[in-house]
Amino acid sequence: MSVQQVAPDGEALEVWIDQDLCTGDGICAQYAPEVFELDIDGLAYVKDGDDELLQAVGATARVPLPLLTDVVDSAKECPGACIHVRRVSDKVEVFGPEAD
Ligand code: SF4
Repeated sequence: MSVQQVAPDGEALEVWIDQDLCTGDGICAQYAPEVFELDIDGLAYVKDGDDELLQAVGATARVPLPLLTDVVDSAKECPGACIHVRRVSDKVEVFGPEAD
């Protein structure tokens, strides 16, 4: 695991989008275009390190540490409340609609 995939507290994080709730406004792709992108269907998807859109239901992408703030801000601002950031280790959501 590279240091760029580890959150400040030492936990690796991953992010996924619930496309059923995505409004397609594109805020996430503006905040973190390295992680989020709108596809031709008008919905946002996460991308892997090779810039490939991950379109499987519930697909996750690692959150690069330098982009953590942008990804968290995306989750906070997401009008659809459909961006979920969770720990890789135990799948507990740490930012997003299901976070404590
Ligand atoms: S911010 Fe949320 S609702 Fe807007 S495009 Fe991104 S995932 Fe969809």
